[in-house]
Amino acid sequence: MKKTALITGVLGQDGAYLADFLIKKKYVVIGTDKSKNPKKMWRLNKLKIKNKIIFKKINIENQREINKILNDYKINEIYNLAAQSYVFGSFFNPIQTANITAIGTLRILEAIRKKNLKIKFYQASSSEMFGNTKTKKQSENSNFDPQSPYAISKLFAHFLTKNYRKSYGIFAVSGILFNHESPLRSDEFVTKKIINGLIKIKNKKQNYIELGNINAKRDWGYSKEYVEQMWKMLQLRKPNDFVIATGKSYSIKEFINICTKYLKIQTRWVGSGVKLKLVNLENKKVIIKINKKFFRPSEVNHTEGNISKAKKLLKWKPKINFKKLVKLMIDAEMENFS
Ligand code: GDP
Repeated sequence: MKKTALITGVLGQDGAYLADFLIKKKYVVIGTDKSKNPKKMWRLNKLKIKNKIIFKKINIENQREINKILNDYKINEIYNLAAQSYVFGSFFNPIQTANITAIGTLRILEAIRKKNLKIKFYQASSSEMFGNTKTKKQSENSNFDPQSPYAISKLFAHFLTKNYRKSYGIFAVSGILFNHESPLRSDEFVTKKIINGLIKIKNKKQNYIELGNINAKRDWGYSKEYVEQMWKMLQLRKPNDFVIATGKSYSIKEFINICTKYLKIQTRWVGSGVKLKLVNLENKKVIIKINKKFFRPSEVNHTEGNISKAKKLLKWKPKINFKKLVKLMIDAEMENFS
């Protein structure tokens, strides 16, 4: 008998990769999103899986819609990836962020509790929950110090997942994934914004990129590898929470430097603070500027995962390191461009 998986947020980066992975594992995949706008289907089209999943328009702000899908299908695993997932955006839409990212998770867990306690549940938790915690490397046991409505909503969902596991015996796990990127990343995230911008600049379609705080450091991995760990977590004998990361951290400035090197753009940084600029040495033009409007009201300065637990219990070993990730994203973007 084929297993059936429900992926909320299937039109996002992770949703698309996870759907692809589960289809290859012979699952029946039901994917949901609050919009069925054909434009938002581009990731499913790219992976050629649009016709291989059952797509349902469901808004996790609506309890009835969630209950209905659990009544209509016999679901074995739910992957809750739906969220208002953009940290900066959460400062402008805090109530909607909480309603989707925090209470949306509660709605799904409530539907499971009432319908069938045997449905396994994966919650997409985030390294943003650690925020500016004091530990240099963050593990499952580190303290949380969330810095945005997004991170606070994710933390609510994280504790709720643990609570439903403990209170009702649901196989519910929380995967604390650090930043994970890919060619399927949306343009507002900093990696994609930089790569997209630099390729346009190289092709004379854009003059410069404006960024916020480029001293922030992130532990960046490859989304396609990360979604496999979601599935692995649900196949364990006992439910457990895991940090998934690479264990290495780089600043946005370092990310830019690797990109320009790979794109063979000779550059130099000049100035400091908000006056810092990246100059293209070939034509002396400024290609990166700092603009205060991209600074967040409250910033997470440094994320770096301690992956000992996942290494041991999930046999997690990231294959795509930082440099490979940059190359892979640039190559894909260049192909798109041409
Ligand atoms: P996040 O870690 O989930 O918030 O992922 P992002 O890619 O949105 O941001 C990563 C880091 O890049 C954060 O510390 C941002 O403050 C920083 N950053 C600097 N400039 C920008 C920018 O123009 N856009 C975005 N999205 N982030 C920026």
